Amino acid sequence: MKTELLKNKIIEWSEELGFDGIGFTDIHLKEDEAHLLNWLKNKFHGEMYYMEKHGTKRSRPDKLMPGAIRVISFRMNYLNNNTYESEKVLNNKNLAYISRYALGNDYHSEMRNRLHIIAKKINNEIKDFKYRAFVDSAPVLEKAIAQKAGLGWIGKNTLLINKKNGSYFFLGEIYTNIDFETDEKSESYCGDCNKCITTCPTNAIIAPHVLDAKKCIAYLTIELKGTIPKKYRDSIGNRVFGCDDCQIVCPWNRFSSETKIEEFGHNNKLDSASLISLFNWSEKEFKENTKNTPINRISYFQWLRNISIGLGNSNKSVDVLDCLEKKKNISNDSLLIEHIDWAISKQKKIN
Ligand code: SF4
Repeated sequence: MKTELLKNKIIEWSEELGFDGIGFTDIHLKEDEAHLLNWLKNKFHGEMYYMEKHGTKRSRPDKLMPGAIRVISFRMNYLNNNTYESEKVLNNKNLAYISRYALGNDYHSEMRNRLHIIAKKINNEIKDFKYRAFVDSAPVLEKAIAQKAGLGWIGKNTLLINKKNGSYFFLGEIYTNIDFETDEKSESYCGDCNKCITTCPTNAIIAPHVLDAKKCIAYLTIELKGTIPKKYRDSIGNRVFGCDDCQIVCPWNRFSSETKIEEFGHNNKLDSASLISLFNWSEKEFKENTKNTPINRISYFQWLRNISIGLGNSNKSVDVLDCLEKKKNISNDSLLIEHIDWAISKQKKIN
């Protein structure tokens, strides 16, 4: 089959499998590589040492897959209509805010399986097809690739934004040795807007397109394994797993649309659970209730650490103090106890 025809077929298959966008690009990412190296040099990646370790593997696809000359970039929406409204949760200090991407089934397996189905179909059509499929699973400069492939632009908040679909979506890639015709790079439509920069609770977007991950609530609550610096705790509010503020305020998210993927549906009520109820989970309950969701990648310690901060920031109440004291009495983890003590002192503080 001619590659032009095959390209159209792949687009068709991706739609059938629930993807919301697809684009084809080459592997030349020089400009983005310079941005990445500068970002690493400034140590904005914090304790994500793997980013440093991988170096230019991320920006040179043929280092990850020798022989790769094209990347097919895929986009899949994850917002679900059943989700309790984000702002209502953020404004209710007794509820726990969990980043919307983490509420459904783990996207890694959902998307990767679909990418492999597409690869299998390509393999049936063409000889000597070589590929590797990735979903946030290897050093891939996924947003830069998606921008080059025409799926959207990298906004000042450093997320990929699509004119018709906002930014609530996942990205996945197929690296390949097939010489597909490439698509046009997307233009930027941020214009004079700076809403994400001025809204970020911890001022993590230090300049347009520059995120100091060390300050970002997603990093602090998910990537960081140890103590959350005190200077960020008040600003974290009730966000216990990730943060969506820079997406919530982005005007382009007025156009975000629902996912077609059933598995991203939410049935575990994690979109509006109370902080106390989540704090009272045993380790076994934590594992069971977050099974197959992205939340499962943090430890039980991180879970309790994050909720302690949420409870410290919640409305003052005897119930909150009581559950903090109880957890403190049964915990022998000094790091956790330090976070609980911080929460207790905030609860007892007279304004
Ligand atoms: S909030 Fe404004 S500046 Fe930030 S990413 Fe969206 S459009 Fe761009």
